[in-house]
Amino acid sequence: MAAAVRTTCAYCGVGCGIRATVTGPRAVTIAGDPEHPANFGRLCSKGTHLGETVGLEGRLLSPMIGEQPAGWDEALNLVAGKMRDCIAQHGPDSVAFYVSGQLLTEDYYAANKLLKGFVGTANIDTNSRLCMASAVAAHNRTFGEDVVPCSYSDLEEADLVLLVGSNTAWCHPVIWQGIEKARETRGTKIVVIDPRRTETAEQADLHVQVAPDGDVALFNALLREMQRRGLAGEAAWDGLDCDPGVAADAFARLADMVAAHPRMVTLFSMGANQSVGGTDKGNAIVNLHLATGRISTPGAGPFSMTGQPNAMGGREVGGLANTLACHLGFSDAERADVASFWQTDRLCGGPGLKAVDLFRAVHDGRVKFLWVMATNPAVSMPDAGFVREALARCETLVVSDVIADTDTARLAHVRLPALAWGEKDGTVTNSERRISRQRALFTAPGEARADWAIVADVAQRLGHGDAFAWHNAAAVFREYAAMTGLAPRHGKVLDLTALADVSDAEYEALDPVQWGGRHPLAGRAGAKLVPVAPTVRTVDPAFPLRLNTGRYRDQWHTMTRTGLSPRLSQHRREPLLEIHPRDAAQAGLVDGGLGRVFTPHGAATFRVAVSEGQRRGEIFVPMHWTDAMAGEGRSNRLVAPNVDPVSGQPAFKNGAARVEPVLPDWRAFLICEDAPAPQGLLWWTRSRVEGGWLSELAGEGMVDVDALLPEGRRLEVADAGRGMRRIVVLGEDNAVRAALYVTRSGQLPARDWIAGQLGLGGAAPQELLAARPATPAPDRGPIVCVCHGVGTKAILAAAGAGACSVAAVGAATAAGTNCGSCRPAIARLLADIVQPATEVAA
Ligand code: SF4
Repeated sequence: MAAAVRTTCAYCGVGCGIRATVTGPRAVTIAGDPEHPANFGRLCSKGTHLGETVGLEGRLLSPMIGEQPAGWDEALNLVAGKMRDCIAQHGPDSVAFYVSGQLLTEDYYAANKLLKGFVGTANIDTNSRLCMASAVAAHNRTFGEDVVPCSYSDLEEADLVLLVGSNTAWCHPVIWQGIEKARETRGTKIVVIDPRRTETAEQADLHVQVAPDGDVALFNALLREMQRRGLAGEAAWDGLDCDPGVAADAFARLADMVAAHPRMVTLFSMGANQSVGGTDKGNAIVNLHLATGRISTPGAGPFSMTGQPNAMGGREVGGLANTLACHLGFSDAERADVASFWQTDRLCGGPGLKAVDLFRAVHDGRVKFLWVMATNPAVSMPDAGFVREALARCETLVVSDVIADTDTARLAHVRLPALAWGEKDGTVTNSERRISRQRALFTAPGEARADWAIVADVAQRLGHGDAFAWHNAAAVFREYAAMTGLAPRHGKVLDLTALADVSDAEYEALDPVQWGGRHPLAGRAGAKLVPVAPTVRTVDPAFPLRLNTGRYRDQWHTMTRTGLSPRLSQHRREPLLEIHPRDAAQAGLVDGGLGRVFTPHGAATFRVAVSEGQRRGEIFVPMHWTDAMAGEGRSNRLVAPNVDPVSGQPAFKNGAARVEPVLPDWRAFLICEDAPAPQGLLWWTRSRVEGGWLSELAGEGMVDVDALLPEGRRLEVADAGRGMRRIVVLGEDNAVRAALYVTRSGQLPARDWIAGQLGLGGAAPQELLAARPATPAPDRGPIVCVCHGVGTKAILAAAGAGACSVAAVGAATAAGTNCGSCRPAIARLLADIVQPATEVAA
């Protein structure tokens, strides 16, 4: 067997180390790297199942001009020619790049250098704008630089962890496991400040169910309260003396916990950042830490978690439109240093367009050439319908990606095949500023190439070859590391010059290295409180509900990778509309039925999940589903393009909405080898099962079975009186090719067993039509533990037999004993039957 390769996970900003062992041409086994300081061997469900996503299904494997395959020369000549023409006719600002936290640092560096240094525009922004730009702005306002002032080890040494707008157990599961461990070993208290009662909130010692966008008021009031108790220094500004926005006893309990625990880390994430007041929220949090001296000491600090694997690397090289490079801005002195380092006389003059403005400029024709790298803005941007229109209007849209047919790639004039995780070779930086190598496991498939190399080839065709003459990723990294030597000249902390001379062999063997050390701001003066005040938002009576969007535990972004994994698809097969029971009743929605969400920007349909975890007046839908995975179920068409005025980060939280029931004539599910994209239905979604797809469908009128089913021998049963129809399609070898179950008013059968028959023969016709075997195995219920395939029923049975802790359930069923991502869900089930509920303070 091949030796394990040390690399890093493809997904979130925790940046877990992985040991990957290649077991076949496109097969790999995954284990946590016990020596990586980010995770010490732990992985969550997404990282654990990375091996299910490394196949070549759906890959873009050669350059495409329109729908025609092209050679690299032809495609790159076209791209460079269009760029050159655009610059000549309309100026540098008519060109833009929209890049991604999925890129490696070397890719980011190359793209940033080409656009800002040699095209002469700063119109390069990144999808990290959607994730943590507000935290960046808050850091810049307070510290004068975008620096995360603490490290993961502070979470282990904290006595109190405040989690603000973070469903950590789902979105940064390995961090959550570290916090749980701190609770076990040192009694660390956990407070969740979040409008939703998430699985994280359920595990907390205290859940403060703050109103949407109520964080600034809460943290200002906490600061004032700490001053009253003699625990905070002087601070005074309008808006500091505000109502905390939560009940008096809740605030008192929170304040007592904060006062009693000087070793306090506040971890904040998208729930804080993705807001029209996201920067102020970040500063309100940092203010509390600064005023109480809880920063740059062991177990203390404000800690912004990034969403993407290399959002931090992008911030460092300067991939945001409002940074020049290497934490430097656009002052004359900074520009002069950068121009000298790059040896260019074409350096951009000032900041470029941030994401939302960038797509507005594409829409109105100011930007005529757009190159999108490794991201899917047609789905992920707010007001995604408008963005799609902008992309369709763009004179030249270039997309470099690993997937051939994303919602964005469909609109591209030129598609360029890029390397995927497992093929790329370079570095990423995680949330605690730790740089790790991401290493190639497989040879590049087809004609796919590294993004930095594609950019360098275009630069060469534009006449800048000397500045982009790197022969490998190590050479790009060395140049970037050397360039960070400019940052200290301007008072910045970023400095990687110690790595500027690594040889190719040293780069290849590079161990994870954290820049700035554990507390990079320790001993540095100059951090300052930033006065922030709560904002009041008016409610439009036509849209009385507040809409919140967010992530699911086992999916990632627009599902182009995690959506390929049958196991990861088990956790949540569909996007759900979560709503409080009384709001649901008021709107006529029922649990398991369909509901349509309307906002001033669009509408989308979801299955309804009635939940006490939602505050009254608020609804939640997930962000992941695209047109390829759901009809009418794309959440970002609902989101307004409102942005934080400082950071430019869009507000994916706290939108205005209303809901209505959707009452289809029929509902159905379809198991099929191929993935149909049904037309003319009220709603559909699909998810991966072994050997094919499971689609859920609902429509009006008659079901067009011929449009849904493949050719083959059909078994069929129907009951017109009950509106029931079941059809199974067999291939020549009698293997099941598809199965469709329709009802007009009754129940549909369970999906698990029949999904497992796909591609198999041997079951009796009656069994197939009934969708269950003659002797059914015990029903597992919804799957909780995807690693071991354990459902709710087995867990509840174990609890009934005396297993009253997560560990005991693990011992009895194996659930939660591998990656541990499902442990909060197990705890939730146990809490319902054997444990008192966590305190909730609203
Ligand atoms: Fe990957 Fe999970 Fe670690 Fe995030 S927490 S880096 S998704 S294994």
